[in-house]
Parts: sequence; C-alpha cells; structure tokens
Amino acid sequence: MANKILVTGGAGYIGSHTVLQLLLGGYQVVVVDNLDNSSDVSIKRVQEIAGNNGSNLVFHKMDLRDKPALEKIFDSTKFDAVIHFAGLKAVGESVKKPLLYFNNNLIGTIYLLEVMASHGCKKLVFSSSATVYGWPKEVPCTEEFPLSAANPYGRTKLFLEEICRDLYNSDSGWKIMLLRYFNPVGAHPSGKIGEDPRGIPNNLMPFVQQVAVGRQPALTIYGTDYVTKDGTGVRDYIHVVDLADGHIAALNKLSDPSVGCEVYNLGTGEGTSVLNMVAAFEKASGKKIPLVFAGRRGGDAEIVYASTAKAEKELKWKAKYGIEEMCKDQWNWASKNPYGYESPENGHH
Ligand code: NAD
Ligand code: UDP
Repeated sequence: MANKILVTGGAGYIGSHTVLQLLLGGYQVVVVDNLDNSSDVSIKRVQEIAGNNGSNLVFHKMDLRDKPALEKIFDSTKFDAVIHFAGLKAVGESVKKPLLYFNNNLIGTIYLLEVMASHGCKKLVFSSSATVYGWPKEVPCTEEFPLSAANPYGRTKLFLEEICRDLYNSDSGWKIMLLRYFNPVGAHPSGKIGEDPRGIPNNLMPFVQQVAVGRQPALTIYGTDYVTKDGTGVRDYIHVVDLADGHIAALNKLSDPSVGCEVYNLGTGEGTSVLNMVAAFEKASGKKIPLVFAGRRGGDAEIVYASTAKAEKELKWKAKYGIEEMCKDQWNWASKNPYGYESPENGHH
C-alpha cells in the first residue's frame, strides 16, 4: 500500500484539505509549494487538526521549476506516489498572461515527471478540470466527451492530460489518475482551513463569501439569459472534503495492477444554478447577498455537471455532501477567518 506521498501545491485550497485526509488516513506526507497563491498558515492548521498524525507532515517552500531542489527531495525520500496540485488557476489572468501559465503549469509538471521517472516513482494523481469539456453539447459530462480549451488555463490542463497519455504510451510502467474536478467549494467543518484566494476572487463562492463578510459590496451575476430554469449558469458544486476523499480513492486505485492512464470525473452529478447557490448560502449564513445582474462572462459555459458513474464504479467513491453542507462549512470558515489566513484574529495584521 502506498504510504509516503509527495503533494505538490499542498498549501493551497484543495491540496490542504487532501493533505489533512491523507494524514488522518495514516499516510506520511511531504508538501512542496512556493506559496505563490497560499499561506503556510494552512500547513500549520492542517497539522493542528490532524492531532498526533500532524507530525507526519513535512513542508518545503519550493518552486517546482527549481529542478535541483526537486531532485534533492526525491534523493532523500522514496515516494510511493505523487499528488500534483501545484499550478496557477485563474482563468482571466491566464488570458492576459498566457506565457506565465504555460511556463508555470507546463514546465513545472514536465520537471516533476522527469524527476519522478529518474527516481523510479511512476504513480501520479493529477488535478485536471471539467474545463476540458469546454461548452458541453449535452449533460451529464462523461469521461468520453470531446475535449477543448476555452482559455490558456484550460489549455494547460488539456496539454498536461495529453502529455500524461503520451508518457504512459511510451512506458506502461506509469500509473496515472487524471481527475477532472467540477466546482470545489466549502471548507473543512472545523472552520480552520478553507479557500483564501489572493486578490479579487474570480470564482463564485469565494466572491459570495467576501460579500458576506463585507469585503465586496455585491455579487455580479454573469448572465441571466442562459437556457436554464432561472436563466443563470448551472454547475456541479462539490464539497472540498468529498473532493479530498476522492484523491484517497484514486491513490488506492493506483495499486490495482490493471490501471494505466485513467481519467475520472469528481463531481456530485447535481446541477445547481447561480441563484440557487446564492439562496443556499444566504440561508446557511443568515446574510443577505446584494446582487447586480450583468451580461454573460466570456468563455463561460451554460450547463456543466458530471456523470459520476465511472468514479462510483471504479474508484468506489461518491460525494456525500450537498449544497447545504457546502454553504454551511463555507460560512463557518469565512466567519471565523474573514480575511482568510491573514485575518487579524490570527495575529497576522
Ligand atoms: P490553489 O491556488 O489554492 O493551490 C495551488 C497551489 O500550488 C498554491 O498553493 C500555489 O502556491 C502552488 N503553486 C503554484 N505554482 C507552483 C509552482 N510552480 N511550484 C510550487 N507550487 C506552486 O488552487 P486549488 O484550487 O487548490 O487548485 C489545485 C489544483 O486543482 C490546481 O492545479 C487547479 O488548477 C486544479 N483545479 C482547481 C479547481 C478549482 O476550482 N479550485 C477546479 C479544477 C481544477
Ligand atoms: N459567476 C457569477 N459571478 C461571479 C463568479 C461566477 O455569476 O462573480 C457564475 C459564473 O458565470 C458561472 C458560475 O457562477 O455560471 C460558476 O463560476 P466559477 O467561476 O466559480 O466556475 P466555472 O465557471 O469555472 O465553472
């Protein structure tokens, strides 16, 4: 059984929740993260929540593109598998700075794969995204749907999936899980870790959260004329703790001898509109979210939700939480940490 895991980007939103589930599951974890979009306070909080298992976590502040530093880590530790979260993920920024995204996401991953190969570690779990489905012609999205990219960020996910498929075709010793996440939201129920994006959030729920704590005056709703029940866009929101557990399921699957380069959707299979999500958050928080209705945001799809059948059958994993729990836990985190990890309550200002 795999028990020593390297987690890249483990200080970030999804990474920190996954590292916690790994520690609670008895794994030894090494995190590398350059803290470009995160804080090492998340690492300390994860250690706190993990209790006695917290000491099984080692953190290195490091950029993946620093290949000699990466080599050193692999020289000193034999990993059973790597979970690779590290990457830049802001769609709008990727349109303005495509080379930044290609440099960070592609070069970082290629170096990681090279160092893994040279150290005989060929088990990888990779963060892909439902963005590779583009504007799907129908829903639910199955893993066989045609792939496309609507922006440079999405193109990095598409390229990296293809790179992984080529790598496996060249050497069947690789075992790779390409996990296509739908829309991760919420936070650990302790309220100690959660999403803390730098700058003005692009994604719906981090923005809603900032409106609720008074950091933003109102939520702009992008598009009211979609062909959906209330005219707003529909997505598949998934609780980040469910998503983290999906990674443990994927790791377990890596020990199945029949596994090659596999792709799985991680979603709930439920479609929720922007207005439904806002209503659920208002209910969970008791806060009114002022709304401004605007036109569609360029590149946004109308309706995206997952077919969950493949993950359920082959990973034996299924999301447990609904939007009520997602909103409740998101608010618990937000109300305790209104300025994220830098909240004055935490002694950081
Ligand atoms: P995040 O920004 O919170 O976490 C990513 C982490 O990677 C950050 O801590 C960042 O500092 C680190 N990082 C970035 N480039 C690095 C580099 N070159 N070297 C070392 N560390 C680096 O984002 P997240 O939401 O936790 O997303 C994790 C992964 O999942 C990303 O690859 C993202 O593209 C993917 N994903 C996210 C979503 C989402 O909506 N959050 C959806 C689909 C896929
Ligand atoms: N959205 C919105 N206002 C915002 C951010 C997002 O109306 O400030 C909408 C967006 O148009 C989409 C949904 O919320 O229909 C989810 O957007 P997000 O960026 O979180 O995820 P993605 O579009 O990448 O699935």
